[in-house]
Amino acid sequence: MSFTLAIVGRPNVGKSTLFNRLVGKRLALVDDQPGVTRDLREGEARLGDLRFTVIDTAGLEEATDESLQGRMRKLTERAVGMADACLFLIDARVGVLPADEILADILRRKSAHVILAANKAEGAAADAGVIEAFALGLGDPVRISAEHGEGMGDLYAALAPLV
Ligand code: GDP
Ligand code: MG
Repeated sequence: MSFTLAIVGRPNVGKSTLFNRLVGKRLALVDDQPGVTRDLREGEARLGDLRFTVIDTAGLEEATDESLQGRMRKLTERAVGMADACLFLIDARVGVLPADEILADILRRKSAHVILAANKAEGAAADAGVIEAFALGLGDPVRISAEHGEGMGDLYAALAPLV
């Protein structure tokens, strides 16, 4: 049996970059066409021998009348409701921001199965942010670079027990 993973996190942490890496370029190109963008994007992910469904909370970056916080909450709750587990991304170069803390609270309140990942973790500039991520109380962060494909073995090890 397979599983569904929701990639959650505040805007700009690298959710879509990771989604595209997991799903591959073909679907990403289709979805990037104007008018095709939806609030939640779903794709079939491959990571080593793992096959799973992945959801990207993609609508956060679009400007609307609603506050970012309200939109983040609504979309994240929807994605979590559809998923068996969520991969909560923070930006290790920026560190933990209030918006990350708010999301961590939402995930805790929903009793979501959370795998924490510190993205943009290529290079030493990310070390402080990775340490901050421990303080979220959501377990040890998996150190990854969605853009450079680093840490994918550790991500595999974190996801494999979900099968
Ligand atoms: P989203 O808003 O969470 O979907 O974030 P995006 O995937 O759109 O990425 C936001 C920005 O972060 C883009 O400029 C990406 O190129 C950049 N980015 C994503 N992953 C990484 C990474 O692993 N390292 C670095 N340095 N930049 C990244
Ligand atoms: Mg995105």
